[in-house]
Amino acid sequence: MIIIMEPGATKEQINKVVEHLESLDFKININYGEVLTVIAAIGDKRLVQPHSLMSFDGVREIKSIQDPFKLASRESQKEDTVVEFSNGVKIGGKNRPVVIAGPCSVEENIDGLLEVAHAAKEMGAQFLRGGAFKPRTSPYDFQGLEEKGLKYLAQAREETGLLVVTEVMDTLDLPLVCDYADVIQVGARNMQNFKMLKAIGKTNKPVILKRGPAAGIKEFLLAAEHIMYNGNPNVILCERGIKGFDSSYTRNVLDLAAVGVIKKYSHLPIIVDPSHATGRRYLIEPMSKAAIVAGADGIMMEVHNNPDKAWSDGAQSLTIPQFKRLMKHISKLMEVLESEDLTEDIVSYAK
Ligand code: PEP
Ligand code: MN
Repeated sequence: MIIIMEPGATKEQINKVVEHLESLDFKININYGEVLTVIAAIGDKRLVQPHSLMSFDGVREIKSIQDPFKLASRESQKEDTVVEFSNGVKIGGKNRPVVIAGPCSVEENIDGLLEVAHAAKEMGAQFLRGGAFKPRTSPYDFQGLEEKGLKYLAQAREETGLLVVTEVMDTLDLPLVCDYADVIQVGARNMQNFKMLKAIGKTNKPVILKRGPAAGIKEFLLAAEHIMYNGNPNVILCERGIKGFDSSYTRNVLDLAAVGVIKKYSHLPIIVDPSHATGRRYLIEPMSKAAIVAGADGIMMEVHNNPDKAWSDGAQSLTIPQFKRLMKHISKLMEVLESEDLTEDIVSYAK
């Protein structure tokens, strides 16, 4: 439920309401707006009589949250969530879309990873991606270097200052992955691994939650809700394509409308991964541009020093020169959008 406080309600009045709800085991999210303070309280509504809450000083109105995803819903938080990093990088809100680039898997040859990382840094990307634990469809495919891969990523971070994004596939590996990663990734296949979502919720690590290949928007946001409900608000959603009926030309169907839908119904940032969405290198640049125009808070793409020899997902990895070209074009696109004041439209049209 949402408790809207009177304009000018005091900190003390707000605290009294919060203490009361917390004593009934409600989870609280407070939004201090310019005029009104709004308290989102998630818990067992039967324990609270609305009229008893209305008798607290400073309470103006009580509403129920209609969406099944409560904490992730824009009803409970009007302002966009912005996920911030210690080096000042921010994802979400009015910030420029971020770029996450790197190979699908961290491979034995660390020089290749470092080459990609340096190119990413040089071109203005903020994050290096690379899987050390790989969710592969076949058990015969490369499964990842595990901790050695995490160490390689840490070395690349050390050399470039890029933040590191890497996937966690099992709750048991979570502490290890958290030790190395700046952002943990929950892969599409694990979007509904509820036990892992719960464990991630108990950390404070920023997390990229990828949309399951057959998940609706509601299921996607409810998966985010599991993380938030357990205490971690730093969720970044990632649209990476959903299953279609024709996989002969693209691996998945990129649902770009999901960006607008998510912005309307949720305050969480959403990024787009055109590599996994299309499975085709030549589609990464046009779909990256489209994602940015659609209002995405970032793009994540696979880049490899030698995609033909990549240990996974080479066909959807850019070469370094292709990546550099894409980055130049994205930067020109951003200049046009910003100089024509179009970014505001992109972010606000849906709300
Ligand atoms: C990946 O990012 O390499 C990956 C496996 O992605 P997804 O979970 O979207 O398939
Ligand atoms: Mn991949």
